[in-house]
Amino acid sequence: MNDFDKEILRGKFVEVGDAISRHESFVIMSHVRPDGDAIGSQLALGFSLLAMGKTVYLINEDGVPESLEFLKGSEKVTRPPGEPFDVEVAIALDTAAKPRLGEGALHASGRAKLWINIDHHLSNPGYGDLNVIDATSPATGQILYELIMALDLPFLEETRDAIYVAVSTDTGSFQYGSTTAKTYEMAADLVRRGLEVGRINAETYDSHPYRRLELMCALLNTLEISKNGMLAHWELRDETRVRLKLMPDDSEGLIDLIRGVRGVLVAVFFEELEGGKIRVSMRSKDKGVNVCEVAQQFGGGGHALAAGIRTAGPIEAVKVKVLAALDEALAVRV
Ligand code: AMP
Ligand code: MN
Ligand code: MN
Repeated sequence: MNDFDKEILRGKFVEVGDAISRHESFVIMSHVRPDGDAIGSQLALGFSLLAMGKTVYLINEDGVPESLEFLKGSEKVTRPPGEPFDVEVAIALDTAAKPRLGEGALHASGRAKLWINIDHHLSNPGYGDLNVIDATSPATGQILYELIMALDLPFLEETRDAIYVAVSTDTGSFQYGSTTAKTYEMAADLVRRGLEVGRINAETYDSHPYRRLELMCALLNTLEISKNGMLAHWELRDETRVRLKLMPDDSEGLIDLIRGVRGVLVAVFFEELEGGKIRVSMRSKDKGVNVCEVAQQFGGGGHALAAGIRTAGPIEAVKVKVLAALDEALAVRV
């Protein structure tokens, strides 16, 4: 990010600060099927605002996944109630497009007069009244760390741990190329503030249910790699989800297993969701293959190297179309 963009971002932080001080009630949301950055971001900002004495509702369409329940304060994040909240401000975090907040969350936040959109997705169109989009940031959690520091907001233990988990999970444990010196400096600051590195990493990464291993086994049985070895994909069908009693977050991060194969440039995960929709998760290892652009062809979005789609089935048709688009993107890669 150049100095000009940094100045713009600082200006946006000040505007968010003004909005926070001018209002008393907030509903904070994140995307459906939330990951560590989604829930972590909600908790991070939520606890800062609560400590300022604000009225804060934390909602997520799908609730907190079992794998993130260890986060202190996570019980404050609930599914949306049927009735809209009487709130002034709605804050969307880590959510590339407004519909990704979910119908229930949109209904519950419907009375808010001011919308704040804080995110790091390249494809975010800026659907808020106030938009803080930094696509150079590896996680929304890192934007919030910078925001909280810039505005000198209260920094509770809940915020500290939530930011760490948000950034750790979105960077593949501080490994992806999106990780910057600022990310490591932030992590060091969180440790100095008392974060227990061993405990929090064990809770994040070494505490999976056994069924995740069974899922891995089932996925491996569907693995296909293209003749040139560059495109790998696997799939999860309804039948397997039901048989293994899977929860949505059981597959979180598993795509990295096929992304990690030498020669593979693009990894894809096709999943039949309850209700008939298909979820496509894509990862690229090559800057010349922008999976966000491919996702956008199908109404999805994300980042250049990690993107997703939610679309109507059946899975066979989706596979044919998406794989063809990826073949094309691989063929013309720069
Ligand atoms: P996932 O493969 O679900 O981990 O998602 C990869 C990235 O793409 C994440 O940053 C998501 O927030 C984003 N993403 C996934 N699905 C969609 C979608 N349908 N629309 C926009 N962004 C998405
Ligand atoms: Mn996310
Ligand atoms: Mn994110």
